[in-house]
Amino acid sequence: MPKPLVEINGRPMIDYLLEHVSRAGIRDVVLLTGFDAGKIDDYCGNGSKWGLSLRTVAEKAPAGTGGAVLQALDGLHPRFLVLYADTIFDFDIERMTDYHEKFSPDATLFLHPNDHPFDSDLVEADDSDKILKIHPYPHPAGADLPNLVNAAIYIVERASLARLKNVPQKPDFAKHLFPLMLEQGMFLKGYRSPEYVKDAGTPERLEKVGRDLLYGKVAQRSLKNPVPAIFIDRDGTLVEERSHIKTPDELVLLPGVGPALAKLNAGKYRTVLVTNQPVVARGECDERGLKKIHNRLESLLGADGAYLDAIYYCPHHPDKGFPGERPELKIDCECRKPKTGLLERAKTELNIDFPNSWMMGDSTTDVMTAQRAGVKSILVGTGHGGRDGKWQVKPDFERPSLAEAVELISRW
Ligand SMILES: [Zn+2]
Repeated sequence: MPKPLVEINGRPMIDYLLEHVSRAGIRDVVLLTGFDAGKIDDYCGNGSKWGLSLRTVAEKAPAGTGGAVLQALDGLHPRFLVLYADTIFDFDIERMTDYHEKFSPDATLFLHPNDHPFDSDLVEADDSDKILKIHPYPHPAGADLPNLVNAAIYIVERASLARLKNVPQKPDFAKHLFPLMLEQGMFLKGYRSPEYVKDAGTPERLEKVGRDLLYGKVAQRSLKNPVPAIFIDRDGTLVEERSHIKTPDELVLLPGVGPALAKLNAGKYRTVLVTNQPVVARGECDERGLKKIHNRLESLLGADGAYLDAIYYCPHHPDKGFPGERPELKIDCECRKPKTGLLERAKTELNIDFPNSWMMGDSTTDVMTAQRAGVKSILVGTGHGGRDGKWQVKPDFERPSLAEAVELISRW
């Protein structure tokens, strides 16, 4: 049976896909079929049962996923969305389209963290999410790559693909076409999202995705819905407290945090790191260096099947007058905790439901931040364990470690 017709909870996979694109206002769908195209034709017809105008282009010989698109290129719209029919998702298509239109790249790639970055194709992007390189797995040991996975959802400009030169036989988008586009000076943009996108291409994955659909997790993660978050402090909470971590090698995960975070990932919360990193203002570690440290953090968590939906940091510090400092970052900003700027940014960018969110940290600064933002606070006993004496505040809860804080949240 062709994969798109494999049933999940009594419905063929392609039914979920077509229903979703139709709801987003898409009307024209071209199905690129290979093996056993007839059965898919029989099921989909002309698309009218989804309110779509649908036609099928069957490949004559296996052409690769990118090759199939290239063969059908002439009949496509000037800008089109590429989806794989063995993927289950619920994402805000209009939001991604607006993003693509705002930056006008040759293609936009949907990127997200997952719980197995070590065997995924990872994308390296600059601070503006312009894609620099695609790193197919396996990755060399100690590569410290970000947990930024290509989710195989693309918005592509037809004219850009049409002018691509030296296309190999049976090209795949991630392995061949995108690297070739980068080589030929084209602009690829990363679109980061914490929404649900999972490949259901193996029996185990199929079963997991089926459960997630049944329990509403797929739709719940959409950026169209406000979703509660767990805001997590870094030093002393997730990793060992050392005054001012400046290199990846100084970063050590606290015991049990990986599995605990993986447990959170399986639940209803987005996980968001919020950390003050005055090392940047002090000139001890630049943004590139900090990125490497966070890549290491994501690799270590990824080895435990855990991930962060987003990382927000404050690079500032208010006190001027030290040798080597960066004066432009020595400011009284709005994002240094206990100010709530980092949380507010996350709220806007990730549609977070504050009243049902939590902040966990090891210092009174974290508790103060939580109170000001209006999220529940858990002080953990690791790191400073609340003995920093900076603010006179009482946390809502206290737990010895992040793992025990996660226990509390999951029973809430
Ligand atoms: Zn700041």
